[in-house]
Amino acid sequence: LGSGPEVAVFSVPSYACQRRTTLENHNTVLTDALSLLAENAELSDEDGRGVAFRRAAAVLKALPSAVMSISQLSGLPCLGEHSLRVIKDIWENGASSEVESTKVSERFKALKVLTGIFGVGAKTADRWIREGIHDLHQLQNSGQTLNRAQQAGLQHYDDINQPVTKAEACAIEEIVEKAVSSVLPGAQIILTGGFRRGKQTGHDVDFLITHPEEGREVGLMPKVVSWLEAQGFLLYQKTTRNSYLESKADGPGRPPSNMDRFERCLSIFKLPKMEKQGAKDSQNVTENYRRWRAVRVDLVVSPISQFAFALLGWTGSKLFERELRRWARYEKGMSLSSHALYDNNQRKYLRASSEEEIFAHLGLEFIPPSERNA
Ligand code: ATP
Ligand code: MN
Ligand code: MN
Repeated sequence: LGSGPEVAVFSVPSYACQRRTTLENHNTVLTDALSLLAENAELSDEDGRGVAFRRAAAVLKALPSAVMSISQLSGLPCLGEHSLRVIKDIWENGASSEVESTKVSERFKALKVLTGIFGVGAKTADRWIREGIHDLHQLQNSGQTLNRAQQAGLQHYDDINQPVTKAEACAIEEIVEKAVSSVLPGAQIILTGGFRRGKQTGHDVDFLITHPEEGREVGLMPKVVSWLEAQGFLLYQKTTRNSYLESKADGPGRPPSNMDRFERCLSIFKLPKMEKQGAKDSQNVTENYRRWRAVRVDLVVSPISQFAFALLGWTGSKLFERELRRWARYEKGMSLSSHALYDNNQRKYLRASSEEEIFAHLGLEFIPPSERNA
């Protein structure tokens, strides 16, 4: 790798929400390394470090070509001392010693395995590790009491840790569509999350549900869930009711952290396997051959008045969302959530019925979902 002056210096704006980040990444070796360190920090309850690595990785994801020399990086935002050291290490030695040692560390491996259980977060995993539990086998023999989510998570561990394909997401969309239109004709669903950003696989499938007439969406979730349950599509579900109005007393547009207060359902779907032509009669169908797989599905219901904010908030990526809120607060004096946008200077809520309007309120160029893959 040269460091000659012939290579152009990259220039990138500092907030991820000012950039167009497609799924095409010219620097995967570097971004994979930084993402792994971000993941390790997040799993170790070091969120600040986690965000710093995520931001650094996102800057490299936004570059129009592969980085050829260290001089091209000068002037790029969000590349701190630590991230630069990792990048240099990869350049000079072909790999980062910190990344390689993290990958093989017992603690990181255990955190990955245990948080791979639906319902298990970094805190729980850390407690278990301190009690000597490093894998699923040890967990099952430990006598730890698991809550309902964790029991389901353990039961469907392999399925849930296998990426969901776009085809499977579409099959689930059809099912949810049918459920929604059966219990409330006119209600609409939209695929959000990574699939809306154009990803071909995901760790789950996310849907936003609304109705064009304000108020008609109230009470919709339990009905949708009952329909899905009656048809045998749910292996697990936990519905949380809407608590947005209660929270308004806490301060305008400012739910704690990034958690929103929509009525939502975290579930595990039982998706019938999509068999290829002729496979049905093949000898594959033994007693152990399951005809379904478990898939994580998130459902959220939003009133139409908040729909644009909910759509923007549930499309991601997580870093893009975080950067939008940071931009709103520090550059515009506004509070953005998945419910509303509040202007702290004008002391009023800014209405929007489309994502485009929200970007306009924020003084940002509109970035379509496929370019929000920061
Ligand atoms: P993947 O393909 O791995 O599922 P994803 O981008 O769809 O990636 P999710 O974790 O499904 O990631 O999250 C999708 C979006 O929903 C993100 O923008 C995230 O900010 C939002 N989100 C997830 N959980 C919550 C929550 N509890 N409250 C508010 N927003 C959330
Ligand atoms: Mn998702
Ligand atoms: Mn999700």
